[in-house]
Amino acid sequence: ASPPPGDARVTPMMAQYVEIKAANPDSLLFYRMGDFYELFFEDAEIASRTLGIVLTRRGKHQGQDIPMCGVPVERADDYLQRLIAAGHRVAVCEQTEDPAEAKKRGAKSVVRRDVVRLVTPGTITEEALLEPARANVLLALARRRLSDEAFCYGLAALDISTGRFLVSETDEAGLATEIARIEPREIILPDAVHEDPRLAALWRDARAAVTPVAREGLDPASAERRIRDYFGVATLDAFGSFGRAEVAAAGLALFYVERTQLGARPPLSPPARAGASAALAIDAATRANLELTRTLAGERAGSLLAAIDRTVTPAGGRLLAERLAGPLTDPGAIARRADAVALLVAEADLRDGLRRGLKSAPDLARALTRLALGRGGPRDLAAIRDGLFAAFEVGASLLLWGALPPELAGAAEALARLDRALPEALAGALADDLPLLKRDGGFVRAGYDPSLDELRTLQTDSRKVIAALQARYAAETGCRTLRIKHNHMLGYFVEVPQAAGEEFLRGPHKETFVHRQTMADAMRFSTVELGGLEARIASAAERALAIELAAFDELTARAIGASQGINAAADALAEIDIAAALAELAAEGGWSRPVVDASLAFRIEGGRHPVVEAALRRDGVAFIANDCDLSGEERKGGRIALITGPNMGGKSTYLRQNALIVVLAQMGSFVPARAAHIGAVDRLFSRVGAADDLARGRSTFMVEMVETAAILNQATARSLVILDEIGRGTATFDGLSIAWSAVEHLHGVNRCRALFATHFHELTRLAERLDRLANATLKVAEWNGEVVFLHEVVPGVADRSYGIQVARLAGLPPAVIERARTILSELERGDRERPAARIDDLPLFAAAPRPAPSPPAPKADPLREAVAALDPDEMTPREALDALYRLKAAA
Ligand code: ADP
Repeated sequence: ASPPPGDARVTPMMAQYVEIKAANPDSLLFYRMGDFYELFFEDAEIASRTLGIVLTRRGKHQGQDIPMCGVPVERADDYLQRLIAAGHRVAVCEQTEDPAEAKKRGAKSVVRRDVVRLVTPGTITEEALLEPARANVLLALARRRLSDEAFCYGLAALDISTGRFLVSETDEAGLATEIARIEPREIILPDAVHEDPRLAALWRDARAAVTPVAREGLDPASAERRIRDYFGVATLDAFGSFGRAEVAAAGLALFYVERTQLGARPPLSPPARAGASAALAIDAATRANLELTRTLAGERAGSLLAAIDRTVTPAGGRLLAERLAGPLTDPGAIARRADAVALLVAEADLRDGLRRGLKSAPDLARALTRLALGRGGPRDLAAIRDGLFAAFEVGASLLLWGALPPELAGAAEALARLDRALPEALAGALADDLPLLKRDGGFVRAGYDPSLDELRTLQTDSRKVIAALQARYAAETGCRTLRIKHNHMLGYFVEVPQAAGEEFLRGPHKETFVHRQTMADAMRFSTVELGGLEARIASAAERALAIELAAFDELTARAIGASQGINAAADALAEIDIAAALAELAAEGGWSRPVVDASLAFRIEGGRHPVVEAALRRDGVAFIANDCDLSGEERKGGRIALITGPNMGGKSTYLRQNALIVVLAQMGSFVPARAAHIGAVDRLFSRVGAADDLARGRSTFMVEMVETAAILNQATARSLVILDEIGRGTATFDGLSIAWSAVEHLHGVNRCRALFATHFHELTRLAERLDRLANATLKVAEWNGEVVFLHEVVPGVADRSYGIQVARLAGLPPAVIERARTILSELERGDRERPAARIDDLPLFAAAPRPAPSPPAPKADPLREAVAALDPDEMTPREALDALYRLKAAA
């Protein structure tokens, strides 16, 4: 429905619209019309659908109705947020001149308009559009060909709202893992990469808006120039050494910033290496399965992050998410973080004091960015003021402490270096109650500027003068109900009842009172005095606002001038917040400090699953702690625990808890265990309970095999692998054989530490052959014929699978359960004795009449009958396997 440009029957305004729209074809155009942003044509249709607002028509274009919808400027943020969340981009087009100016040019000329900003998911800065505790990352990708086959990828992750700017490099195999770690809101990438069929799934599965960029902005030389130019440095060396793909990616990120901010430059920290090689690699599937930062359903609630987040500042929350997404592998770096946590675990008073101070610290980095981009308001200045005061307080209480571990000492020093002059100036300038928008005025404190005070007195005095005038007019005219009022049309006016008004028109006061308006029961007049007063008040207000805006600009400039220190303070506060929050968590849950070193140890005593434990606690149920020992030796490799046990016994909980303990330990946290010794894990793999990935057109089994293949191909002796029920999604023999050979491969080739849960009891025999494999099972008690899950992991093999008991707990009809028991015991007997082709003869249901015995027909072929009696659709893999064994034995 887009209009072809250049038609004679186009109004000047539409011509302007079409031109601007043509320059921004891939954005919805918010076209400013007075108090509204209006959208036209297809944009209007999209917006009305996405926002649920009315689609109307406005005029005609080339003889056709123009679809239109509008959003009030006052509430634009709200609508923007929803459009952005739905993955759209919006070009905001403002009037760039006073309509009066346009009129001067001629009756027909349109107000000049220009796009002042592109709003995209990865480049937003408004408080209303951002989630406080979540980074808003724009990811720029570039790639470089290494050989015919191989590429190197550069990634630049930039959060404009805080200025955080990290680059990394990876090969193609690691690309998905890196993207999963970064969790971008928007990805910009060269067309060629976007169109590479091998990567198509990446873009489709990323929960991000994907924006391909054509050639412009991708040239490597200009990338470097762009970075130097942005940061005003002669060479990039000052920031560290970067690969060519990294430089290209960082340049692309800046290119996009400049394009979307239309020249405005948010204060960014210089690009730094994210140190991808030092991060515990966790691929996307593992991340999702372990529900690190969100659950499989996509919610934050229920994730590990939500369970452990005790931060009290938004920046701390963002840093926690970042650390959880990218734990470390270097034992030294891990220990430095844990040292900070340990001090604050031990010193509860210090911790409480810090947390109290931190609570009053607003989001410094984001406020600063808004100010720098000219989108700030008085409350952003107040945020700088309060944030810096909180920083002094927090820094002071740390420095008073004396001997601090390096992480905290570094943060305290950054806070100590802060200049008090800025926050004090802000405190002196800003009023107590602040408007959201600077144009509303009233945010500068009385006493800050004498000329402002004078103008304000004039305004208040004028109001007194008006009151006095009203009294005088009433007395002079004898009209006691005379009132002086104000509206936008008339300004100040005198209002009297109809009858008195008639009197004014004719009587002795007709010289003083000039008639303006007749209402149903009142008349309105103006007077010369009132007009004079009005002009004085208006000009006083105007001058007062001008003074306030000048003060705003001056203070903003000072804040921007101090941005380096402010950003350092913001980082330091986040660092302290995270240490105190992890300490709080550890103290609250009785967590312990893990030993993380370069060995192949993996010894957890009394480990717990923090999310399941929290859920159980809400129901008043205790969590059963479990040990886990997979420790291996450098020469041989790690151990494998093969876990069997009934459904609902706690296998997956146990598997996951050990993986989560690794993630927590390597991010520098304490862990939910009595004690833990972990040789730093380089990669964490998990393949647990698959949901059908129908959207991708892959069966459960296919997904399972793809993920298993990734593990068997990539796991090293330093990796930790969690495998839950491999081979369940296919025919029993297939599944069993795949699971079997996978265990052998893990043991002999990958030699990693692994937990392997399975329903195939046959696998437990592997323990006899594989020296580093041990069987474990979840203890179950039987009581009055009921099964009780004890959730305790013990050495050994599950003796039964208790499937029927679980089915009964799940509420299968009693008759079905009864029938299943009969079949089971028959099958088990058959297992021992001989083929049981007799299942058919078992009473169908206890209550049902026995079917008439079949005629003693030719005892032709019992095997054939037994096969005919099987209903593969109704059998579990285990039953199918058992049946096969029986058939085999009968043959
Ligand atoms: P499985 O994988 O063996 O089917 P799950 O790990 O899903 O079993 O656990 C089933 C339920 O048992 C969990 O939802 C939880 O309520 C409970 N559970 C599991 N492990 C424990 C434990 N260690 N202590 C207490 N309850 C547990």
